[in-house]
Amino acid sequence: MNLNIHAGHNPDGKVACGAIGLIKESTGNRDVKNDLIDILKEENNTVYDCTVDNGTSASDVINKIVAKCNAHSVDLDVSIHFNFGANDKNGNGNTTGVEVLVYKMSGPAYEAAVRICKEIEALGYKNRGVKQRTDLGVLKNTKAPALLVECCFVDDKDDIDLYNSKSMAKAIAQGILNKQISLSVPASTPVPESEVFYRAISGSFNNKNYANDRKAKLDKDGFSGVFLEAFVKDETTWYRVIAGSFKDKINAEQRIKDLSAKGYDGGFIAAFRK
Ligand SMILES: [Zn+2]
Repeated sequence: MNLNIHAGHNPDGKVACGAIGLIKESTGNRDVKNDLIDILKEENNTVYDCTVDNGTSASDVINKIVAKCNAHSVDLDVSIHFNFGANDKNGNGNTTGVEVLVYKMSGPAYEAAVRICKEIEALGYKNRGVKQRTDLGVLKNTKAPALLVECCFVDDKDDIDLYNSKSMAKAIAQGILNKQISLSVPASTPVPESEVFYRAISGSFNNKNYANDRKAKLDKDGFSGVFLEAFVKDETTWYRVIAGSFKDKINAEQRIKDLSAKGYDGGFIAAFRK
């Protein structure tokens, strides 16, 4: 097969990077993408890496990825992402799992997507299934059949404890190629508690002005250590207002109570790994 593979978003630390949780999405995307390309080449496929590391905005990243993809004639465009929004910081014993997004619910991309979901399910992840998305540029504007793998959730401890880039890449390769590959992969290593920090999140906004307004109000009300963190989800940039980051969860819980007492409702704690 001829394949375009790319990791979603700019690299971590740059504008338009991916979500941040117990792992950083942009880094995970690149780890899985690199392992996937190695496996697919080993299996004698022609693979083009269409990852973009120098986008100037979320839409610029997408436009550049689409241009790279459309410069090659391939059987399939594959986009590697991780999902966000589970907020299971402690691990509840259940993964939130995998989903694969496609432009249309038939044809070769759809069929590969169903197989990829089943392969990742076989690693122990919940199978959230294949979902149709006609709004994403990376699926809509690419010429070849395209699919987008949301491998698992960066903010679910169960998902990340199970995660290993090589086993994830192998599962995706098996789904794409519709065959089993003999390749031994290292065991996953659970996230050590010592590396986990807890953030008190006061809100998330897709308008930077609203996020800045919230930060200004929190500063004025005497909350220290408030900062914004931008990330891209579904090709849209979001701004999280983080009202403090703490090593001990109890301090983050206290911050949420203090926020509530001052009328800032809807705050919650998110774990991240330094
Ligand atoms: Zn993403």
